[in-house]
Amino acid sequence: MKRQLILTVSCDTDPDTNPTVRRIHQANEHRPLWQGIEQGIATFRQALMTKVAARLQRIPITWLLRSDRMILEVYDDAAYCFKTFEKIWQAELQSGGELGWHPHLFRWNDAGNSWNAYLDKDDDIEVMEHCLTEFRRHFDVNSVRAGWMHCSNRIMHLFDQHHLKIDVSAIPHSKLAEWWHYDWSGTPPRAYFPSREDYRVTSNEVGKNLQIVELPVLAFRLNPAWHAARFGFKNLKAIYKSDHAFLSWKNTQYRGCLITHSSATFQAAVKQQLSNGSHNSDPIFVNTFFHADELLRTESLTHFINNLNFIDAFANANQLELVATTLTPATGLAKQSIASRG
Ligand SMILES: [Zn+2]
Repeated sequence: MKRQLILTVSCDTDPDTNPTVRRIHQANEHRPLWQGIEQGIATFRQALMTKVAARLQRIPITWLLRSDRMILEVYDDAAYCFKTFEKIWQAELQSGGELGWHPHLFRWNDAGNSWNAYLDKDDDIEVMEHCLTEFRRHFDVNSVRAGWMHCSNRIMHLFDQHHLKIDVSAIPHSKLAEWWHYDWSGTPPRAYFPSREDYRVTSNEVGKNLQIVELPVLAFRLNPAWHAARFGFKNLKAIYKSDHAFLSWKNTQYRGCLITHSSATFQAAVKQQLSNGSHNSDPIFVNTFFHADELLRTESLTHFINNLNFIDAFANANQLELVATTLTPATGLAKQSIASRG
């Protein structure tokens, strides 16, 4: 049997820019904020039909729909992103796509008149639960990516308790300490069941892991010169700002790789992923993503197309069976892969 290359591409359906008000009364007033979905998806589908290798022309995408405090307060409806673009989602579902969830942690700031990141505080658990419940009135939700890749034990437990099957927030080993930040220190570049005590890693003790699968996104490992430069730059910045946001050597080694990134980076990341596999029968997971508004930019769309064509050629050249699928079916494959590692 041929070794498999499992390709999962998901989309964070954020608005093109953040709303500049806390509440609006006429939903149509704010539709211009969602052109990535409204225009971008049609453009994307058209481009694929003429420019991409036959077997990836109808690639199923996992659309991770935004719902969180910002969406709830601005539109007074946690399911706004589903309802407003329902026709588009139904068409995507019909052609094998999947819908999931993409919550951010935002709070409105009266003084600054803006939506600001609200991280490391209460994780907005009740609002998050409400959003998920509202979505589930309309469609099955099994897959999720946290906004800004920002996770915590409470958030991972929330996902698990509500029977989400797969989270795709992790960037292996990475940590970022900006106004938005994440911490995936110690996270391996392969699927795992998160420990109840530390979402970033698995536990070897029986009963200590959650049921949800964490499938890290494709990451690009920097070469030693770039790695040293990035490590130095990030830590000099921490010294300059006196914010003690220091990063370890390992924390700065990997960068998340989007399918809209330049071909050189994407290709290197995929090749690295092949060498990450523990043995030759282990499937290779290429779990990558993009943002809806990137579909409006010619350059990003061109990278997307080139990267899909690269994957197709790469699978052929390496005699891999290319399986392009969505996140829920990939969960079963990820679990098999975890089991085979023992
Ligand atoms: Zn987002």
